Amino acid sequence: MSRRLVLLGAPGAGKGTQAVRVAEALGIPAISTGDLFRANIKGGTPLGLKVQEYTSRGALVPDSVTNDMVRDRLAQPDAADGFLLDGYPRNVAQVSELDAILADAGVALDLAVELEADPEVVVPRLLKRAEIEGREDDTEDVIRHRLDVYAQETAPIAAVYAGRGLLTQVDAIGEVDDVTTRLLASIDTAIG
Ligand code: ADP
Repeated sequence: MSRRLVLLGAPGAGKGTQAVRVAEALGIPAISTGDLFRANIKGGTPLGLKVQEYTSRGALVPDSVTNDMVRDRLAQPDAADGFLLDGYPRNVAQVSELDAILADAGVALDLAVELEADPEVVVPRLLKRAEIEGREDDTEDVIRHRLDVYAQETAPIAAVYAGRGLLTQVDAIGEVDDVTTRLLASIDTAIG
């Protein structure tokens, strides 16, 4: 059974934390566009220099830049038999691009998993993370903007996957271990 998965959820829903755990349990790479951008910014690469103006204010990086980066990453050998994408796709156009990337490789997405969390729960989580990690996009204003972008651009993609019968939803509230267990159970139920 192949496992080509995307993880959806609002900023602060715990995608990054859960993506790493779920991917490890399934033996597939967790691929986070946010982490890829941050690594490039930290390393001062040309890509990093290009994207920082967007990430720092919580705006989406232009699709052309993001799509190329994801296409390159999914072409790496470790993603040949499966992957868990975290932070991509993030708008409906990226859904189409992911379809094209996978179709070009002769494969298809198996499942989209949505981590559901109330925005009133995620803002305090993100502010707490800001204290610990010092991410520059974790100030209250930028967080509110990221949540708006999520509601407008990203939330609609769950409906697209639901329409294809590819969506499963998991409650993101609770202990980290419990959420991981729930995610793995729901993936197992959906695709075995
Ligand atoms: P969060 O989900 O907590 O907002 P991420 O680490 O996933 O954080 O993303 C951080 C930032 O990276 C986003 O606010 C955006 O600027 C950029 N980014 C990440 N993924 C994408 C994407 N698929 N398309 C465009 N921009 C993206």
